[in-house]
Formats: sequence, structure tokens, C-alpha cells
Amino acid sequence: MVYRITFLGTGGGRHTTMYQTRCTGGMLFEHGEPSHFLHIDPGPGALTQMRRIHYDLGRTESVIISHAHPDHYSDAPSVIEGMTRGGWVMRGSTYGSPSVIEGVEGLGPCLSPYHLGLTERTVSFRPGDVLDVDGMRTEICKAKHSDPCNVGFRFDTPYGTVSYVSDTDYDREIGEQYKGSRVLILPVTTPHGNRIRYHMCTDTAIEMVEQVKPELCIFIHMGIVMLRHDPAGQAAMCEKATGVRTVAGEDLMTLDIGEQLSLGKADTYPDDLWIPHWAPDMPEGKK
Ligand SMILES: [Zn+2]
Repeated sequence: MVYRITFLGTGGGRHTTMYQTRCTGGMLFEHGEPSHFLHIDPGPGALTQMRRIHYDLGRTESVIISHAHPDHYSDAPSVIEGMTRGGWVMRGSTYGSPSVIEGVEGLGPCLSPYHLGLTERTVSFRPGDVLDVDGMRTEICKAKHSDPCNVGFRFDTPYGTVSYVSDTDYDREIGEQYKGSRVLILPVTTPHGNRIRYHMCTDTAIEMVEQVKPELCIFIHMGIVMLRHDPAGQAAMCEKATGVRTVAGEDLMTLDIGEQLSLGKADTYPDDLWIPHWAPDMPEGKK
């Protein structure tokens, strides 16, 4: 049984996103037996990263979008077209916050009625909801962010809970929701000494890791100031303060979740003419 997260992007915030200093393509989560593929927060760069690793979007069965900020959703329409084989096969599920699905207070909607109509199911979630994402129990947690609909996630696997805390301010109430997590994937937008509203910095990451006490913490969603100030050093600061193994994520890093937690790197391929088998070609007889 495979439980693997591929970090398509580990950048976040508007400057990292606009310059693609790091990719902002979210995460691919392979889970279950047989394997299901879930794409979480497909922001800019998701498509080019998937091409680099020769990942066929036709394998994706579900997409989850935490909130209506472009670094979390902008590649989603093409991801949905991939999931539905160019829009020709109705399949899969789209999950999103109300701002993503319906639009709230000037934010979103992030998907057109056409794209929402391509998948079999559309689910708008709120904190406290429990989803069954292709057999994986997924709890929706509260966040405190400039998109008031934003949420975080607890994904239950047979090897423990993997939590993705999407963009949020930190306080004890937010941290409490993630207790019992084995892996904590944290959006640490800014470095030590650079606390900003609605996001986490290394200092609040340390407080949260001390509260939750996971086995492994991974920093993602790194903003431009974080990237200028040695993300690996920031992660080391967190590890030293908390005693919890902490890693600064890297684009195309993989995390295998089993008895052991192991980090690796996705295989990449040269920019050849790789095209999935189901993509269109000339009709037979015209070749
Ligand atoms: Zn955001």
C-alpha cells in the first residue's frame, strides 16, 4: 500500500508565486490500495512540475482547494480537465471552501460552472466536516486567514495522521486541532523575527510544533523573505528548539509514509515528447 506525498511546489505568498522563485503547485497525495491520487492546492507551476515527473493528470481522482488565493488554485481548471480526460469523461471529485466553489465576500469563485460541471461530485466544506476522499478519512480544521473560508486538513492513513495546515495565523486553538498528527506540513511563510498577519513564521512554527509534537514537520509555502533567509537554517532552528525533526521542503521532494517516514526526490525526465496514451491523435487511417 502506497502513501506518498510529492511536493510539486514549496513556495507561497504573492512574490514567490509571481516570480516562481519556488514552484507553487501544491501536493500530489498517492494513497490506498489500489492507488488513488489526490491533488491538494494546485497553484501556479503544478502543470509544469507534473510534466517534469511524467505524472499523467488522467490518474488524478480528486482535487482539494483550501481557499481562494491564486497560489492555491490557479492551475485547478487544467487539473480538472486532466482528471476528466480533456472534459470528455465525467469522473472524480472537486472539494473546496465556499469561497472557492461559490465565491464569498469578493473572493472567488475560483472555478467556472463549466469546470465544476466536469467532475462527478462537487463538495463545499467547512471546519468540522469529515470527508471520505476516495477512501481516506479527511477532517476539515479551522484556519484564521484573510480568506475567512480557509481551512486545514487532517488526512488519516493506516500509518498515522498527516496534517496540512493551510495558511493561518497561529494560536493555541489552531494548534489544538492538529494534536496526534504524525506529520505536520506547515506553511511557514516568513522567517524568524518576521511575524506577519494571517501567516506563520519560524517563531510561531516553533510554538505550534511544541504544542502538537509530531514525528516530522515539513516547512512549505515559503515566501520571498523566507527564501532569502536560509530555509534549511530556519528548519534547523525549529528542530533545535523543539527536538522534532524539521525539514525545509524542496520542490519535487517526496515523503513516503509507512512504518518509517522517508524523504526522497521524484524522478525527473528530459523535456521530450511525452504524451499520455489517452491524449488525442489522428483518427485511424489518417496517420
Ligand atoms: Zn492564502
